[in-house]
Amino acid sequence: MPSSQNLVAGVIGVQGDVSEHMDAISRLGIYHNVSIETFSIRQTGIIPKCDFLAIPGGESTTISRLINQTGIYSEIISYAQSGKPLLVTCAGLIVSSSNANDSRVKTLDLLDVTINRNAFGRQIDSLETNLNVIGLDDPFPAVFIRAPAVEKVSPNIEILAEYEGKPVAIRQDNILGTSFHPELTLDLRIHNLAFFENPTPNSKNNQ
Ligand code: GLN
Repeated sequence: MPSSQNLVAGVIGVQGDVSEHMDAISRLGIYHNVSIETFSIRQTGIIPKCDFLAIPGGESTTISRLINQTGIYSEIISYAQSGKPLLVTCAGLIVSSSNANDSRVKTLDLLDVTINRNAFGRQIDSLETNLNVIGLDDPFPAVFIRAPAVEKVSPNIEILAEYEGKPVAIRQDNILGTSFHPELTLDLRIHNLAFFENPTPNSKNNQ
């Protein structure tokens, strides 16, 4: 749990489920009785001040294009490298991967995974299912919308949940990624796992 009681959170605000993530983070602050000021980020200068950062679901080709145009691409990378917690959902997961299998997505290369965009969506546009997630006591109501599948993971990725035999929630140190949309439910446990139960940077190396 972060030490400061006055926290700053950012949600990459160029496109997608921005307000839903902002609401979830606000409710999480109320739950923990800490003050969290939350920003929708479309310009440089705010990310370095953030204690929490989320990249929402939406359209990965659009998010990729706009984070490059606005110049926040390299700020997101610096933030992630600082070890502070980052939550990336659906299109956010695609953009954060090392390979999105799509030349229109300039990936951030933060998660050592290869993504298959719209992998589940070709069969079913959207679905909700109760998912067992490592770290959560009870199943999580996972909403999938044209969801990406994680096809290849490197050994430093921890798989937290699978659906149809594919990883759909993963963690790499301070970064938690989901193929589904925790921001579209009232359940705060994925946001809590990402931001308040985040392993300390390089904790694996310290063991
Ligand atoms: N299919 C979308 C993409 O490739 C992601 C869908 C979502 O974020 N709900 O960007």
